[in-house]
Amino acid sequence: MENVVIIGSGPAGWAAAIYAARAALKPLVYEGAITEKNRKQQTLPLGQLNLTTEVENYPGTPAGDTRAYLASALKNRDDVPYWVTANKPQPSHGVNGPELMMLMRQQALNFGTRVVTDDIVKVDFKGSPFRLTTLGGETIETRTVIVATGARANYLGLPSEAKFFNLGVSACAVCDGALPRFRNKPLVVVGGGDTAVEEASYLTKFASMVYLVHRRDTLRASKIMQQRALTNPKITMKWNSALDEVLGDDACGVTTARLKSTLNGATENVDCVGVFLAIGHTPNTAFLDGQLKLTDKGYVAWTTPARTYTSVDGVFAAGDVADDYYRQAVTAAGTGCMAALDAERWLAHHGHL
Ligand code: FAD
Ligand code: NAP
Repeated sequence: MENVVIIGSGPAGWAAAIYAARAALKPLVYEGAITEKNRKQQTLPLGQLNLTTEVENYPGTPAGDTRAYLASALKNRDDVPYWVTANKPQPSHGVNGPELMMLMRQQALNFGTRVVTDDIVKVDFKGSPFRLTTLGGETIETRTVIVATGARANYLGLPSEAKFFNLGVSACAVCDGALPRFRNKPLVVVGGGDTAVEEASYLTKFASMVYLVHRRDTLRASKIMQQRALTNPKITMKWNSALDEVLGDDACGVTTARLKSTLNGATENVDCVGVFLAIGHTPNTAFLDGQLKLTDKGYVAWTTPARTYTSVDGVFAAGDVADDYYRQAVTAAGTGCMAALDAERWLAHHGHL
């Protein structure tokens, strides 16, 4: 019988594990499986930050030469099977996403967290204890569960979009917009919702011009956000347009976005060094199979303000799987910490500690 099982291996999952392990709860983390399906949908172990380059906005990981403190945690890096998307460290660099995630994982292991590299594919929250089933067919019984399975950005599915991922293609302006490659150059944002408008507005701080590409002639974004975009001299609307192809080369990355009219199919090339997709996110909740209450956008519903409680007593949720609004590593880690403390208090309240 487990005290706490944590499902997910992003900042939320590891923060929960670090706190639960230090509270002597002996947490068991299911970090996800290394499968072709997970690779394709970008849900391999270590979460979304394993897909990115430098992370400059996570407190405690400044840009600069991090070799000294990385050396101990990552000394066996080449032996680690999940190091599939990692960028090899440069001689002097700030911490990159994969390194940050390995450091978090190592920190959790240091306090006695047990980690299994498998997906949870089925849950049974109807009785007590809860039952979880892995992709490998194992069944686990546990008193509490922390769901920290994150979300994944939606992409159009163009091969060129995948080819230039991290070479100018991104799905997070707040994360990547300030990178030197995007400074004082034209950028493209795809989408017409609040995220697209917010990201386009944010990117005008860095870009010479932002082209906002939307497939219709009306934005979905709220009126106030629309107004912000339409009156910003550094945003040019590309109405009734779809991203047809991302063009570039291996040395420079993205150089051009080919747009296609959704009205007559005519194509147009727009010079740009970056293409930001802002066409929504999908939370990783399918395995819950309706056993937790979801919001109308499909995220796990937190049922009590400032708590990580869900609709099932003893099941807690943390990070992007329950948060469609902030979607940052530090907020995910913050709610991961909260979930571990909530689980610990639940166990104490029910006489298990
Ligand atoms: P995730 O990071 O999404 O991790 C969840 C993981 O859980 C999945 O990847 C998977 O391995 C595992 N999992 C999923 N389902 C299951 C299952 N059924 N069983 C077992 N395991 C499962 N934020 C910042 O603050 N700064 C940045 O610079 C930044 N850059 C980003 C760059 C990119 C390209 C992207 C995509 C995001 C970026 N973000 C950044 C956002 C940040 O990565 C997320 O907010 C954060 O990772 C969310 O953490 P999480 O723990 O909730 O989930
Ligand atoms: P969203 O509201 O679902 O909008 C997605 C946008 O992407 C839509 O404009 C949609 O076009 C477009 N799109 C979807 N699939 C596409 C495809 N295959 N090709 C081209 N375009 C595609 O998602 P969101 O903007 O991420 O917002 C999610 C939620 O967060 C919303 O409720 C939003 O209000 C909220 N949010 C709020 C704020 C804020 O208040 N500051 C900021 C960000 C997000 P169509 O319009 O044609 O469908």
